Amino acid sequence: MYDLVIRNGSVVDGSGLPAFKADVAVQDGRIVRIGRVTETAKRVVDAAGKVVAPGFIDPHTHFDAQLLWDGCAKPALSHGVTTIVPGNCSLSLAPLRAEHRMKLVGMFNQIEEMPLKAFKEGVVWDWETFSEYISRIRKGLAINVAPLVGHSVIRLWVMRDAAMERTATDAEISEMQAVLRECLDAGAAGLSTSYVDMDERLQPVPSRLAAPAEVDALASVLGEYGRMLQIVPEFYDADLTIARIDELAELSLRHNIPTTFSPLFVNADNIEAVNRVMRRVDEQFARGARVWPQVQTRPIDISFCFAVPSLLFIRFRSWYRIMRFGTHEEILAAFRDPENRQKLISEAASLGGLWPKLVLRHVQTEENRKYVGMTLGQIAELRGVSPVDAMIDLSLEEDLDAHFLAAGMGHNDDAEVGRLLAHPRVHIGASDGGAHILSFSTYGDTGYLFGHFVRDVKALSLEAAVKKVTSDTASIWGIPERGLLQPGYVADIVVFDPKTIDRSGEDYVGDVPGDGFRYVRESCGVEAVFVGGALAWSTSDGYQPAQGQILPGIAA
Ligand SMILES: [Zn+2]
Repeated sequence: MYDLVIRNGSVVDGSGLPAFKADVAVQDGRIVRIGRVTETAKRVVDAAGKVVAPGFIDPHTHFDAQLLWDGCAKPALSHGVTTIVPGNCSLSLAPLRAEHRMKLVGMFNQIEEMPLKAFKEGVVWDWETFSEYISRIRKGLAINVAPLVGHSVIRLWVMRDAAMERTATDAEISEMQAVLRECLDAGAAGLSTSYVDMDERLQPVPSRLAAPAEVDALASVLGEYGRMLQIVPEFYDADLTIARIDELAELSLRHNIPTTFSPLFVNADNIEAVNRVMRRVDEQFARGARVWPQVQTRPIDISFCFAVPSLLFIRFRSWYRIMRFGTHEEILAAFRDPENRQKLISEAASLGGLWPKLVLRHVQTEENRKYVGMTLGQIAELRGVSPVDAMIDLSLEEDLDAHFLAAGMGHNDDAEVGRLLAHPRVHIGASDGGAHILSFSTYGDTGYLFGHFVRDVKALSLEAAVKKVTSDTASIWGIPERGLLQPGYVADIVVFDPKTIDRSGEDYVGDVPGDGFRYVRESCGVEAVFVGGALAWSTSDGYQPAQGQILPGIAA
C-alpha cells in the first residue's frame, strides 16, 4: 500500500516533454512509480481531466519576515508554489546583530514596502546567526525554503555601522568570506546583492559601498559551493544593465557559479533596449557564462494611499519626501497648506497623463463611496477640479485612508512579455512574494502564467511553461531532487485544472500582524498541493501542517 496515489491525471513532468496519461505513486515522501498503479494507497486523488505537475519554484521572494508568523507563505502555497527563495536584493533577516535589527527593519520598510508595525508586533527577535534564523523558521514550515543571505546584512555583521560608510579592508573582506561560508553551511542557497537600493534615510544600502574586489571575494566563496549570486542591477538603464551582465559573466566564469539579475521589464518605450540586453545575455551564455535574467509574468499595477510611502512617487521628490519622512499630521498639513499644495501640483504635472487614469479603490466615509471604481478624471469632472486636486481632496477627506490604483503601469504588452517569458535564457520569477504588500499582490504569478500566457495568449505551451517554473528553476539554482516528476524525486506535486488555473482578483485583506493589511490574490483552478508527499493545501482541506524543508542545505 502506497502513501499516496494520484490517478488518471495528465502528467506534465517538468522536462518539457509532451503530457501523458498516468498514475503517480508516492511512498515515504518520494515518487516511486509513474504509470499504471493498481495498488491502493492511504490517500487516493482522482485527477481525471487535471494536470499533475512538479510543485512550482519561486526564485525571487521576500517572505523572510512572513515565514516567522506563517510557515505556509500564504497564499503562495495554494497557488502550487512548493519552494520559495527569500533573502533577495541584498536583504535577509540573518545574520543580524541585535543592535542592527531596527536598521534592517528600516531597509525592509523602504525597499520592500513592509510595514514597521508587522515587524514590531509580529516578530519575536530571538536569533542572530543565520543558522539560528534557519532553526527558527524550520518550526512549522509547510513550504520549502531555499534562503539567500543578503550582502548588506553580511556587511553590517562584519563592519557594523561602517558598512554604511566605506569600502571594506582586506581583513574585513576575509571575515565576510568566513561569515558567508557559515551561512552556506547552514543552508543558504547563495548570496544576494544590490546596486540600486536605498535605505530608510534614502542613502545607498551597505552592499552598494562594496568595491569590486569584495564582490569577487564573496563570489569565490560561492564557487566553493557552486551556489547562486543574485543581483539587482540598474534595471532602469540598458547600458548599465549590460555592464552588470558583463560583470556577472566574469564572476560566473571565474568562479564557476550561476548568477541571476532581476528585474527585467519590457515596456512600449524600451523594447529595443531589452533586445540589446537579451543579445548580451546570449553572447555571455555563448562564452559559457551563466547570467539569468529574471522576468515576472504579471503587469505592473500599483496601489497607494498617502498614509504610507509608495515607490510610485519616488520620481516626485516633494511628494516622496513628505510621504517618507512626514508624520500623519505633517502630510495632512502639507496638503492643506496652499503654497505647498501648489508646489506638489506643479511637480505632478511632469506626468500629467498618469493622474486622470488613476482609479479610486476604497474609502472610509459614506459620502465618498459613490466615487469608488471611478477614475480621478471622472471624479475631477464631477467636482469641477483637476485630477491631482481631486486626489489631494479625497485624501484629506479620508484622513489619508483613500486608496488609488495605477493599473497597467508597464510590462503589459502581451506579445513582448510573452516573447521574453518563452525565451530559453529567461528565468521566470521576480514575483517579489511577500513584499510591497500595500502596493500590489505578489502572489499568483504562476496562475497568471498558465491562465494568461499559456491559455489565452498562447505564448508558451503548457509543458514549456511547467518546465520554466519547475525543472529549469531547480537546475539553474542547483536544487537537487526537485522540479521533475520522476521515480526517486521528492514528491512536491501540484494538481491543477488547465482550463481554469488563474489568479483571482486583488483583495485587500487584514491578516498582517499589527492590524496590517495587504493585497492578496487567491488561487483559481489549483486542486491540491503536496510537499514532500504530504498534503500541504487543497480546495477541500485548506492549509495543512506539511513537510517544508530548508533547501538546498539539507542536501549539502
Ligand atoms: Zn526583490
